[in-house]
Amino acid sequence: MNAKEAADKIRSYLDREEMLNFLFTLIETETVNPPGNEYLLHETILKSMRELGAEVEILSKDEKRPNYIGRIGSGEPSVAIISHMDVVPPGEGWTQHPFQPYEKDGKVYGRGALDNKGSLAASWAGIKALIKSGLKFKGTIYFCAVSDEEMGSTYGVEYLMERGFKPDYAIVPDSGTIDKAIIGEKGAAWFDLESYGKQSHGSTPELGINAIIKASKLIQNFEKFDFNLEYDKRFTPPTINVGMISGGNAPNIVASRCKVTLDVRYPVGITEEMILKRMIDEINALKMKDKDVDIRVGEVTTRHYPHIVENNSKLIEAFKDTAHEMGMPMSFETSAGITVAKIFNLNGIPAIAHSPDSDMAWHISDEFVKIDNLEKCAVLWATVIYEIVK
Ligand SMILES: [Zn+2]
Repeated sequence: MNAKEAADKIRSYLDREEMLNFLFTLIETETVNPPGNEYLLHETILKSMRELGAEVEILSKDEKRPNYIGRIGSGEPSVAIISHMDVVPPGEGWTQHPFQPYEKDGKVYGRGALDNKGSLAASWAGIKALIKSGLKFKGTIYFCAVSDEEMGSTYGVEYLMERGFKPDYAIVPDSGTIDKAIIGEKGAAWFDLESYGKQSHGSTPELGINAIIKASKLIQNFEKFDFNLEYDKRFTPPTINVGMISGGNAPNIVASRCKVTLDVRYPVGITEEMILKRMIDEINALKMKDKDVDIRVGEVTTRHYPHIVENNSKLIEAFKDTAHEMGMPMSFETSAGITVAKIFNLNGIPAIAHSPDSDMAWHISDEFVKIDNLEKCAVLWATVIYEIVK
């Protein structure tokens, strides 16, 4: 059976109403992170897993922050589909209650409708349809609902890795759009540049060295900085964001210190060491022109390495074939954002991110998801999984 026939069969068993009922219950249960309180979904998730005939394992670093792994089958290879149960706070500007979901014009509205409860409901409905269809498979499917994605995954996917959860492949339906799958993510390095000067009276700035002005000479190039480094061209060039600046003590004192905090995003092919060295070279070049410049590069305080799934990976192949057979336009791209797909990839598990989004409705007020997109994704993801485990 080819991917088209499998997708058609799965689609014929997809129960839209059941999927929406599950989604409504998920949204009605408030799991705003912080604090998360994902345990409030305990009965809902267990029931959903029971309906898949899954063996359930619960891994919790904190009992109020559970992670559910529903296993279906026991052979090889294994594919996990992982959605998170927590949501960001509602914020302002909602026209209706954020936790009282409703359907209007083919969309479901409510906090989490897209991110990530819509995906959780769609992946569940897709897998349920696959099981009901009677299509046989040899491998293992993990249907997962995790905690703590919006605040760094310490209690979520990071903890699953610590506990040794290791599927062969993972699908993270939490980034990208309906027609764009994310196969790689840039790395990030956050660090300070510390500029030192010489204090003097504000009335005689010529007697001091102004650390703020020296720092500004360096950062003025950063708007479009050319790192002049080779990298994997499936990524966009490295970027610098000058995120924070602080320095000086008073208007009438020449500033002797200034600190600039950077967020550098960089592709595969470039390393953190190369970024820091490039920064030091830039400082040295400036020193050649102005001997009073004294700027030092601080420690990296936040660090994410870049990753990309190999082009010949079975996961990408299955995704490509299935989308094509289903007539869904799909590009495979890299991103500068960071999702839990990175945690999987850096732990040796190829993971692709994809989502039902087509309207950039992430984290907005009146968050919504198109029901058609949920249905398409439910079939697509279940078929991709089937293509790998069959
Ligand atoms: Zn999310």
